[in-house]
Amino acid sequence: MQKSIELFNRAQQHIPGGVNSPVRAFKAVGGTPPFISKADGAYIVDADGKQYIDYVQSWGPMVLGHNHPAIRQAVIDAAQHGLSFGAPTEAEVVMAETVNKLVPSMQMLRMVNSGTEATMSAIRLARGYTNRNKILKFEGCYHGHADSLLVKAGSGALTFGVPSSPGVPADFAQHTLTVEFNNLDSVAQAFAQHPDDIACIIVEPVAGNMNCIPPVAGFLQGLRDICDQYGALLIFDEVMTGFRVALGGAQQKYAITPDLTCLGKVIGGGMPVGAFGGRRDIMECLAPLGPVYQAGTLSGNPVAMAAGLAALQAIQQPGLYESLTERTQTLAEGFKALAIKHKIPMTVNYAGSMFGLFFTDVKKVTNYQQAINCNNTQFNLFYHGMLEHGVYLAPASYEAGFVSAAHDTQIIEQTLAIADKVLASVAAQ
Ligand code: PMP
Repeated sequence: MQKSIELFNRAQQHIPGGVNSPVRAFKAVGGTPPFISKADGAYIVDADGKQYIDYVQSWGPMVLGHNHPAIRQAVIDAAQHGLSFGAPTEAEVVMAETVNKLVPSMQMLRMVNSGTEATMSAIRLARGYTNRNKILKFEGCYHGHADSLLVKAGSGALTFGVPSSPGVPADFAQHTLTVEFNNLDSVAQAFAQHPDDIACIIVEPVAGNMNCIPPVAGFLQGLRDICDQYGALLIFDEVMTGFRVALGGAQQKYAITPDLTCLGKVIGGGMPVGAFGGRRDIMECLAPLGPVYQAGTLSGNPVAMAAGLAALQAIQQPGLYESLTERTQTLAEGFKALAIKHKIPMTVNYAGSMFGLFFTDVKKVTNYQQAINCNNTQFNLFYHGMLEHGVYLAPASYEAGFVSAAHDTQIIEQTLAIADKVLASVAAQ
């Protein structure tokens, strides 16, 4: 840990909290974050040379595991021809065609540089298209850090106790209505109060920023129906679930068609990329076709497109998602069995290759209140035990974990053997 400690001390001199994104700082779990020097497959290696089995996978994008040879080669090849042109390229056309093939509801799409840009732009478009002001989101869902979305948000905002950020004017926040995930009554009430002024519902179809909470049966369909009834748009934020819970994302897994979809992470294969898209008539409102403005100097840049296309090509291999789901299930059911063995109250949720551990005696965690009432002391003990034994989980209890194609059955078994030891010591505390 010596090198990481030195780097963290230096980092804190010039970078707020020593990190470029808050959750990385380990504030929630305490201690020094390992500084990472390289990654391959299921593993990351820190600056001191210690190797970890990684279940963060860069917060989701590495569906195929780190440093995938085809993606690496595509980046090297693209870089030979220049890093950015600020002019259209063939790769962008192929990207749009590929995304449309995999996610058919995205009849048209725009590339951006992050998930935050994707959601921010989709919201502006929804407002422009409907000519309405308000948006409806769910408590504990995180959609990036644009002003109107940092109201009762999840992820780091929740971890650090500032779900509604200072710096967001009350005048903006008043247009963000926040209701309960998996509770259609709360959605119906909000629409009854503002029948003509809600532009859209934005939702993580599987919530992954208050740990991992899948939708209960009928929830997503209920959102679709309410949007149709009131003329609001349904936006699926699939930044985390896209190409993750199924090849066609959560909309394929749960068979619900949103009006707009936000993507990120995976379509860059690890490069800084996002996209938003959806119904043609809505997307045609964007400049230069329509009046809603949205732009980006580096959007669709050739290196990112090359990485993304290589990733999207590789994830289409037959059987990939079946095996990802199967291994995630083995891992999740394994954690559950170990918790029972060590008499630790725990629930494990999973959807596709996303999973989340809740230290709670609630049998089925379906909402925000249950997620935030878990035993953080036990989580932190578990977290540090796993880290010490070489398993890297997200350093906060409100984050989902990710299994990649590189996590083979042996790695899953090894993880469970380590969890057995660590849970025994948690139980002994
Ligand atoms: N939406 C969701 C569902 C996310 O999980 C995230 C990031 N974790 C974002 C949006 C924001 O993406 P980015 O960090 O790339 O801006």
